[in-house]
Amino acid sequence: MTQEHSSQSRRGADERRRHIFVTGGVVSALGKGIVSASLGLLLKQRGLRVTHQKFDPYLNVDPGTMSPFQHGEVYVTDDGAETDLDLGHYERFTDQNLAGRNCVTSGQIYDAIISKERRGEFLGKTVQVIPHVTEEIKRRMLETARAQDADVNIIEIGGTVGDIEGQPFLEAIRQLRLELGHDRVLFIHLTLVPYIKAAAELKTKPTQHSVRRLTEIGIQPDILVCRSEMPLGEELRRKISLFCSVAPEAVIEDPDSESIYEVPLVLHREGLDELVLAMTRLEAPRKVDLGSWREMVAMVLDAPAEVEIALVGKYTHLKDAYKSVVEAFVHAGVVNRVRVRIRWVESSRLETESPEELLEGVHGVHVPGGFGVRGIEGMLRAIRWAREERVPFFGICLGLHCATIEFARNACGLTAAHSTEFDPTTPHPVIDLLPEQHATEELGGTMRLGSSACDAVEGSHLREAYRAERIHERHRHRWELNETYRGRLETGGLQVTGTDSERGLAEVVELPGHPWYLACQFHPEFKSRPQRAAPLFREFVRAAGEYRDRVGAQQSLLRASTED
Ligand code: GLN
Repeated sequence: MTQEHSSQSRRGADERRRHIFVTGGVVSALGKGIVSASLGLLLKQRGLRVTHQKFDPYLNVDPGTMSPFQHGEVYVTDDGAETDLDLGHYERFTDQNLAGRNCVTSGQIYDAIISKERRGEFLGKTVQVIPHVTEEIKRRMLETARAQDADVNIIEIGGTVGDIEGQPFLEAIRQLRLELGHDRVLFIHLTLVPYIKAAAELKTKPTQHSVRRLTEIGIQPDILVCRSEMPLGEELRRKISLFCSVAPEAVIEDPDSESIYEVPLVLHREGLDELVLAMTRLEAPRKVDLGSWREMVAMVLDAPAEVEIALVGKYTHLKDAYKSVVEAFVHAGVVNRVRVRIRWVESSRLETESPEELLEGVHGVHVPGGFGVRGIEGMLRAIRWAREERVPFFGICLGLHCATIEFARNACGLTAAHSTEFDPTTPHPVIDLLPEQHATEELGGTMRLGSSACDAVEGSHLREAYRAERIHERHRHRWELNETYRGRLETGGLQVTGTDSERGLAEVVELPGHPWYLACQFHPEFKSRPQRAAPLFREFVRAAGEYRDRVGAQQSLLRASTED
């Protein structure tokens, strides 16, 4: 292809590309991420190339330095960016990987602009929100979609319409519609239609106000997605349409559903994807086929059996802190045809209450990632209990660190063993900083991040789970299993079954002889998909099911013998 040709075809693709913006009003946490992800799935199903972006108004460069209580989970991409948890929804629903550039914050925008200003790139000018900030926002929105060669670019704007810090984003997308035209830019607005008990009615006023705020800044939504506890009904739909200047068929109802994976089915039934195509004059190569998705949802809602897993964590009061882990358990349930019930156990409780009490009856113990010393001793007790009682155990990242400390202390006689994260002067630092971490001074974006390769030992649960020798998973940590202690741990019986392919770091440990005991340094939850559960979650849940059956059989034997 000549240069002229390729730039022409690039221009052609640019001109065909549609940009769909999803904003939210009234209250936060309405599920913009789920609606965006669902639309992505529906359009991908129709044979279109889709990408997703999230623009968040806060000033942090990324959520990596925020407390899980503030922000919920930090989602890690293959390329090692610490991003908003909505990227997890996008990846899970569309089953395609995104990059760090798909998550943008005001912090990144201002950081870029201030660096440019210092380099003198704005020489002579006053740097302003309009046009400089808005130009930078628009540039990123368009360039990412171009780089990823998307037919449809779905962009979610974080926060709620009316927030001060979100205004530059809204101004930028208003301008984009002006520049690219109605066919190529579509506005979807998500609002709440609350049910007022005293009046026994759904109320549309908050939606009207929210749309008014949008129109005041020059954005007339094309489609309204109305979140409510119950279906809207024709009359309300017409009322919202009239007051908000949105066609009645473009008032989409999105009532609460039991599982987030039902949302694409609901929105498809409501005609959302059809509407988006018609409004943007986009032709899709295929029809939607949701058959296998529907089967998956049926299994999520109505599995024939159940296992119970204790999730022993330190942020259990905010379930969003474990978003991907929770979803990975849902996916593992689907493939094993069970519902995975999670028993949330705040680890610090295990410091005063016994594992026998808090963990009694569970079929598996999971210790997920985390930071800081609070609750660690409780995690150690939970792991010891699972190890000694031969209950399936699965640890991730901090879970691996705790498993190693517990084993060193109670099975290798190193009673003072610890991680230098929690006790910098421990005589037995079985978990220590990665070598490159000693010199890091800045905390933002400096952990070991993103995907790397790991080799699995033949005959291990790890190898069996992935059915492959070399696997790739995502990381987010500063500490690791201290190589100096590997020999002593292995002599004690803890086997390293996975090692980093390039650097030889211990990535996975297992306990041969235990029914299922595995802890990994990487985070397999990030790559789990509803129809392709992460292998380690799948195998852990399978082992939990076997444990449940074994214990059940023992109990009925016991009952039979005492009845005799
Ligand atoms: N705090 C530990 C570390 O930084 C574990 C991190 C995690 O669990 N993601 O290495």
